[in-house]
Formats: sequence, structure tokens, C-alpha cells
Amino acid sequence: MKIKKGIGVSPGVGIAPDVVVDSEEFDIPERHVPVDHAQAELARLRQAIKISKNEIRDLKKRSTERIGKEAASIFDFHLGLLDDKVLNRKFTETVLSGHATSEYAVATVLRGYAKEFLDMPQYMAERVKDVYDVEKRLLRNLTGQHQQALAHLTREVVVLAHDLTPSQTAAMDRVHVRGFAINAGGQTSHTAIVAKALGIPAVVGLNDVTTEVGAGDTVIIDGNRGVVVIDPDARTIEEYQQFSRQHVEFIQSLDVLRDLPAVTLDGHEITLLGNIEFPDEVTTVLEKGGQGIGLYRTEFLYLGSDTEPTEEEHYQAYREVVERCGARPVVIRTVDLGADKYTQSRQRIPERNPMLGCRSIRYCLQNLAMFKTQIRAILRAGVDAQVMMMFPLITSLLELRQAKTVVRDAIEDMEEEGVPHCSDIPIGMMVETPSAALQAGAFAQEVDFFSIGTNDLVQYTLAVDRGNEKVASLFSAANPAVLRLIKEVTRAGQRNDVAVSMCGEMAGDVMFALVLLGLGLRTFSTTPAAIPEIKKLIRSVTMEQALQVARRVMSFDSEKEIVNYLRVETQKVMPEAYSE
Ligand code: PEP
Ligand code: MG
Repeated sequence: MKIKKGIGVSPGVGIAPDVVVDSEEFDIPERHVPVDHAQAELARLRQAIKISKNEIRDLKKRSTERIGKEAASIFDFHLGLLDDKVLNRKFTETVLSGHATSEYAVATVLRGYAKEFLDMPQYMAERVKDVYDVEKRLLRNLTGQHQQALAHLTREVVVLAHDLTPSQTAAMDRVHVRGFAINAGGQTSHTAIVAKALGIPAVVGLNDVTTEVGAGDTVIIDGNRGVVVIDPDARTIEEYQQFSRQHVEFIQSLDVLRDLPAVTLDGHEITLLGNIEFPDEVTTVLEKGGQGIGLYRTEFLYLGSDTEPTEEEHYQAYREVVERCGARPVVIRTVDLGADKYTQSRQRIPERNPMLGCRSIRYCLQNLAMFKTQIRAILRAGVDAQVMMMFPLITSLLELRQAKTVVRDAIEDMEEEGVPHCSDIPIGMMVETPSAALQAGAFAQEVDFFSIGTNDLVQYTLAVDRGNEKVASLFSAANPAVLRLIKEVTRAGQRNDVAVSMCGEMAGDVMFALVLLGLGLRTFSTTPAAIPEIKKLIRSVTMEQALQVARRVMSFDSEKEIVNYLRVETQKVMPEAYSE
């Protein structure tokens, strides 16, 4: 039995014999065609492009039905690539002037293109997988080879691969593929996003998982903990099967809570909201009993296309969320591009340290036209709705004031133009840096609400890259320094009557719910799947208990003591809860 640790990107447990998908590395030698065959060769290439486009359109259609149109829009990038004039001209030149075979033209031109992406910072380099995806599709159609059919399996498997293209992931047969694990990494890769949207447990960033398995080995994929167990012993299988069964039963048992309020035993009402990336996900939030959207991550609007979304595209997406939510609150976060998330600008000089670089609000303040376009759309979507606007990664008052000035400018413009908009939209900020937490008292004078983003707050407090598997074990919200910063924020909120919510992953981890309640948090915004469990815990405790737990937690000096204590206390009030 071997245990491998990676990054869990899609939760759940899958147990099945493995199937290893080879990396389809086509080896294309340089071959030439006789001069008088060049036109026929070009016709062959054009035919392959046509077939590939039809396949992609079909895949996009099927994916839209399965994962929603926003997630499926990644295939627009593939179609855009095949329609790209520069690229097609290069294909033609390589075949007609260079007398190369179509395969050679495809391989050289697209690999050159991929290299351009690889030279960009991490978040743009993710696009390289889409370029390879298109290259493989074209080569398959030129050579008549067939892809290993993950769409037509007849038995349950877990898929192991060096990497999976977004197309391969989107085409997976959800019934038979119990999970997948790949050597390559990246939480924000399209492959990870598609896996989450399909609900397939997945672990990435394993480096060498494909070389560690024997054909047909049983493999356990634990997407919650980011663990892969190869050739598990009977006891481990039994434990995982039991855990998986109990967990499914427990989750089903929470369904009855859906329409009940999130209120403590002694009557304190808590608000539970959902985090979404795509408008389609509103339905899941509401099904799980969420009372609105506490974080709408809008950077995913930038996922599918190569150009910036227009004001109308932003507006349509926001309005869809608002309409699906009815009268419930919706917090729209302005784009958090840069660092590990997509950006449009290909010409940018790669940053040496993108997590500390021009990301989020900094990126927006340096790209004012883009920022204003989005702000206008949010203000328009706020008409007759409970929409709030939130800025990410604020580190100084100056930054907040600059962002608010852009909102004021946009409102003035829209007033002059007579465009309907919401002129008194509540404005909040994310607290995701120590500087913002420590200055919460000052910020509280200038915002309507705070939302604590623990994913980044932990990263910046502990100096641990949130996406780096090598330091993943150091990434912990239970570090006393992180908890103290959270306390600063909830206190500043209480003193200044500013609402405080939390939308980082910590808010959805049931182990932390008691201490967060005790520290004064009254709004939790989590991935939709976590809402019922958090609600169950809230309904099982008194505020007095939570205050006691928080007091005790704040007296500990080490993360280990805190985790051990919180596990015990959580299990006392909710024995069925799964805490790692
Ligand atoms: C966070 O940092 O906690 C957060 C919610 O934002 P994101 O994960 O999108 O960076
Ligand atoms: Mg963040």
C-alpha cells in the first residue's frame, strides 16, 4: 500500500481499479510532401480542422447540459484557436511553402504557440493545456487514431494520468469514473474546474502517480484530503468504504434542515450564504438551504474567451444570478485577476512573484477602463435587487478610497447618460491580508461590510503559497496568528456596527464553526455543499458554548493544540461530523 499526497481539487471519495491514460505524446517527424501534392495536403488539413471544430461544438453542447454554459465556455477558446487567422496562415504557409505534412504543420505551429503561453506567468500558462488539447485533437483526426474512450466505459474505474485535458475531463462518464488523479498540478486549471463542476473526486499535483501504479491496482482517491492510496490493504478499503457510506448517509440526513433557520439553541440567528463561480450554481446554493450569495467570483467570466467581457456580458451574468436569487442578497466581487487566476493581457512581462504582484484590486486600479466596465454592470444589475459590491485584496485605505472613487465616477457617468443603476449600493471589502485585518477599525469607517477571505489571509499571514503542494501541510487556518487576526476583524465590526462575514474555505469547515461563532462571526459564506453541515452545527450549540470554546482556543499557543481541542469539541456536539 502506498499513500501519495497531492492537492484535493474536487471533494469526495472514489474507490475502484485504476485505468491509466497515456499522455498521447504524438511523435511527429519532419516529413515533406511532393510539391504537386501540397494543395491536396492542405485540403486534408482543412478537413481535419473542420472535423475537429464539429467535435468541439458537440462537446461544448454536451458539456453545457452537464456543467452549465459558463464552465463549458472553455471550449470557445478551442474553437477560437481553430478559427484564428494568424494560426491558419501559419498552417497554410508551412504546408504550401514548406511542403510539410499536415501533422508536422500542426505540431510545429501549435507547439510554438504553446511555448508562448509557457513563458507567461503561472495563471496564463494554464492555457497551454488547452493548446495541447487542440493539437492532440487535430493530430488524432489526421492520423485516424482514437482517443482512449473515457466517455464509454463499462466498469467503474479511477483514472490516473500525467495530465488530463479539459476535453478529456468534460467527456468523462460520470457513472463509471469514480475519481481521477494526475501528476500535473494547478487548482485553477480548467481540468480542476471541470472536475468540481461534474462532482468527480479529484487530486492533482502528484508528480509521479502514474509510475507508481500497476495495471488494475485498486486505488482510492480522497478529494477532501488530497490523498491517493495505491493498492490499499483490506482494512484501509473497509475504512474508506465505511467512511464514504457514513458520509453520504450523513449528508442525506441533513436534507431535512434545508428550510429550517440557522439558529443556535439559545436563539442567535446566523446567516448562511453560498460561494459561486457560475450563475448556474445559485440553484445548488438554494437547494442546500443557502440564504443568498456571499461571494460571486467573477473572474470566471474571463475563462472562456480571449477578449475581455463587455459590459453587457458582465451584466447578463450578474442579472442571471440576481434573478435566480429572487429577493435574496448577492455579493458580487470585482475581478480578482492576476496571481493564480486568469488575465487577458498576454503582453505582460512575467512577474517574479505574482502572489505579491499586480493582482486583484491592484490590477483593476491599473486597468481602469476594464474596472469601470465591470462596476457599471454591477450597478446596473443592482436595480431593484439586493446586490452588494465587494473589493478583493484591499491592503490600504488609499486603495479602498481609489476603488470607491471609480464607483462614484461610474455613478456620475450613468446619471448623465440616464442609464438605470443602483446609486446607493452597499460597498464592502475582503479582509485577506494582515494589513487589512490589523487596520479593520479604520476600514470600518469607510465600508458597509467586511468579508474575511481566509484562503489568502492564511497564505499571507503564514507566508505559505496556497497552491504549492510542497508546503501544503503548513497551510492552516488554525494557526493562532490567523485566529487573532480574525478576532481583530470581528471586534472592529461589532464596535463599528459593520457586518462581518467569512467567505474563505475556513467558513465551510465544520471544525471551525464553534470558534468562529464564539469570535463573533454571524455570516458564513461557503461552497454550497458545506451549508447543511454548518447549519446542523449551529443548530446544535448555544452561543455560551461557542464563547467558551473561543476563549479556550485563544489561550493556546500552537496550531496542534487548537486542532485537537476543536476536533473534540466539535465531535461532542455533532458526533457524525467528519473532521479530518
Ligand atoms: C479567499 O482568499 O479566502 C477568497 C475567498 O478568495 P479566493 O479564494 O477567490 O482568492
Ligand atoms: Mg482571495
